[in-house]
Amino acid sequence: GDFLIVDGNSGIVFVNPSQEIKSEYERLHKEQKELEDKLLPYAALPAETIEGDRLEIGANIALLSDLKLVSSHGADYVGLYRSEFPFLARSSFPSEQEQYNLYTSILKQAEGKSVTIRTLDVGGDKFLPYLDAPQEDNPALGWRSVRISLDMEEVFREQLRAILKAGNQGRLRILFPMITAAWEVRRIRNILGEEMQNLEKRGESPPELPELGLMLEVPGTVKILDKLLPMLDFVSIGTNDMIQYTLAVDRNNPKVEPWSSPFHPAVIRILQESLQKCSEYCVPVTVCGEAAGIPAFAYLLLGMGFCNLSMNPTSIPSIKNTFRNMSSEQARLDVDAVFGMEEAKEIRDYLESSLQESLDVI
Ligand code: PEP
Ligand code: MG
Repeated sequence: GDFLIVDGNSGIVFVNPSQEIKSEYERLHKEQKELEDKLLPYAALPAETIEGDRLEIGANIALLSDLKLVSSHGADYVGLYRSEFPFLARSSFPSEQEQYNLYTSILKQAEGKSVTIRTLDVGGDKFLPYLDAPQEDNPALGWRSVRISLDMEEVFREQLRAILKAGNQGRLRILFPMITAAWEVRRIRNILGEEMQNLEKRGESPPELPELGLMLEVPGTVKILDKLLPMLDFVSIGTNDMIQYTLAVDRNNPKVEPWSSPFHPAVIRILQESLQKCSEYCVPVTVCGEAAGIPAFAYLLLGMGFCNLSMNPTSIPSIKNTFRNMSSEQARLDVDAVFGMEEAKEIRDYLESSLQESLDVI
């Protein structure tokens, strides 16, 4: 019978809050709803800047039901399907057939839009109760993500077979999380080659190997991109983990939140280096992670030259609206100015006011 307010933006839950807090949240909720109602009718329009530069805006999803939001909120593609959610919701590993059914539904319901399925990304902050995982002092630096997949090869192979078979139903790309070494990509490619052959024998393989990408989430990986990119078709930058590992701030610890910011100059430089390397090797790059849905950060990414962003679907209508009212040229000038600045707060304030000025003029 307790009354709760769950603020998903800040990660705070209020238990039996005072009337003032309730009223404040009612107002926020109403304003947000009004803004959504105003922008939703335009969600399907392209994200094109004043000069006509087009950005592709993808959706990050975790559940089958999120696909409704993909079309209603104007996503151009599914930039990140977090495949661990069905694993987290069960008491044992889902079978190959169960996974195949799920991935098939996702690809079909995406109605021809490209879908990037990320392989299992558990460990760290995502606890899988039936996984026999060690007690770790530093789980974020421990046995997580692709490391688990490569150690539990049969589980990984089952997932890959389910994904590959489902690939016949739509436009599929496969993404591998938290890659930190070239041998990992080589090992994954070998496993995929073997599983393609197994499926071919059974007449179940897709016509060709889907595009393969890595998630760039560790700054060290940026330094070996020249070794990795020749083996890949695309890259997706996960800003949530990239910020955590660049700034040594636990992404789930509110105590160190003041030290964490996507606007930190180190994060911006790492993004710039990543984009530069990917352009050199002609490998397309997407930025996913929650920061892509922050208008001032999306504006920064535009100015840096990124043209593929993937975000929470509910952020898409307002981000598209922002881009439609922005000048790419102005964004480039603002990014030049930002590179001379020292502090995350200074950078954020500068970008927010520049964005506001442009929106006010229009
Ligand atoms: C990220 O790290 O930015 C990301 C998109 O992956 P996740 O949030 O699932 O770790
Ligand atoms: Mg991540």
